[in-house]
Amino acid sequence: MKKIAVLTSGGDAPGMNAAVRAVVRKAIYEGLDVAGVLNGYQGLIEGKIELLQLGSVGDIIQRGGTILRSARSPEFRTLEGRQKAVEQIKLHGIEGLVVIGGDGSFMGALELTLLGIPCVCVPATIDNDINGTEFTIGFDTALNTVIEAIDKIRDTATSHERTFIVEVMGRNAGDLALWAGLAGGAETILIPEEKFDSTDLIKRLKSGTGRGKKHSIIVVAEGVMSANELADILKKEANIETRVSVLGHIQRGGSPSARDRVIASQYGARAVEVLMEGRSGVAVGMRDHLVIDYDLQDVFKGLHELDMSMYTLSKELSI
Ligand code: ADP
Repeated sequence: MKKIAVLTSGGDAPGMNAAVRAVVRKAIYEGLDVAGVLNGYQGLIEGKIELLQLGSVGDIIQRGGTILRSARSPEFRTLEGRQKAVEQIKLHGIEGLVVIGGDGSFMGALELTLLGIPCVCVPATIDNDINGTEFTIGFDTALNTVIEAIDKIRDTATSHERTFIVEVMGRNAGDLALWAGLAGGAETILIPEEKFDSTDLIKRLKSGTGRGKKHSIIVVAEGVMSANELADILKKEANIETRVSVLGHIQRGGSPSARDRVIASQYGARAVEVLMEGRSGVAVGMRDHLVIDYDLQDVFKGLHELDMSMYTLSKELSI
């Protein structure tokens, strides 16, 4: 193997740059040429491919976003689009591709392996929703952003004796809400993995008020419902007044946390090793604190599982 390429695709996540840096530096360390593809799969179709040097990835480990930029490419979802991408890959003499992104990007990579292109995927999404790995790049940074916001909201919730609803991202996964809720000491955490029960929620809120609790923080994952919808339900069903805070895209930005930089470095380097071993259709990730690699198809065989013991714990600690 003489030359590989790397791209970032789908929703961006803090730490993608650290992963790009690791791929580039590890590849060069191993004596390979390494190219960067701009704008994800769309750039691959359009041949936006540049050879990278050690210095190309200098001063980026601490930066959010991705220097390679990311894109969503409807054209790549078609066989014609993917065939154009394959032509470009061959034209540039690329023998293996590292795809850094979420599960949509992983699906694109799987399709590309079926056309004979060796691909290895690195999980990067703040949602932490990829089956087979305990952690994705970006999750820890987003978590810290949410906790910082909850701490600030708690100050005003306490001062004004109010109930706040904080809506966090996560798509269909409750990881961000659960971890942030637990770490931020939220009184209630609503996640898509648990059936929403307004009667139970109202009972909890009222029993808190009964004990003299004057303020409360409810963290709701976007996969359950929006914070505004929840506020309407509480108002309509129990005349409970709340304030709403939707954190939005600030959760996707910022300088990556130490942990995200470390796992991005580990995952990126491992991806290069896997390609050098002559393997394809592989995802890297983490299990029991160890960097692992596994069959890319396994990502789609089940849903990412949330650690429900943490949910139980959060309930026990916020009685
Ligand atoms: P993420 O990787 O963050 O989940 P998307 O779901 O938007 O983001 O996927 C990123 C890109 O991956 C899409 O724009 C598309 O180009 C490609 N992709 C997603 N699903 C498929 C698929 N089934 N077949 C081919 N390409 C896909």
